[in-house]
Amino acid sequence: MTPQTEPRGRPKITEEWLRARVTVDECGHWIWRGTLTATGQPQARIGGRAGCVEYVRRLVLESLLGRALTAEDWADVICEVRGCVRPGCCCTRKPGPKKGVPRSATAKAARAQRVVAAHAVVE
Ligand SMILES: [Zn+2]
Repeated sequence: MTPQTEPRGRPKITEEWLRARVTVDECGHWIWRGTLTATGQPQARIGGRAGCVEYVRRLVLESLLGRALTAEDWADVICEVRGCVRPGCCCTRKPGPKKGVPRSATAKAARAQRVVAAHAVVE
């Protein structure tokens, strides 16, 4: 048996693997039963104790897209349901300033500009 070669050795997940670790809620979202980060990102340890911790949504998207996500791709869900990892809900976003998580001075500046723009619209 030859293991599949993956770019940069990214772990591969299957739908079965995912389904075994979620609870489907009344609206059909797949709620991750494992650990969440402080910001609500589902995490999984892949490869046992010696394995690494991965963001589940990134793994879902990578298996959907058939490529590894870059640092420019942020894994998120369009439904915004906390802990949801349903493949149909997962999406990538470009990095941008997030509420309460200023990434850099540039992000702060961008946010400040948006606030100014919002004021301009109101006035
Ligand atoms: Zn969802």
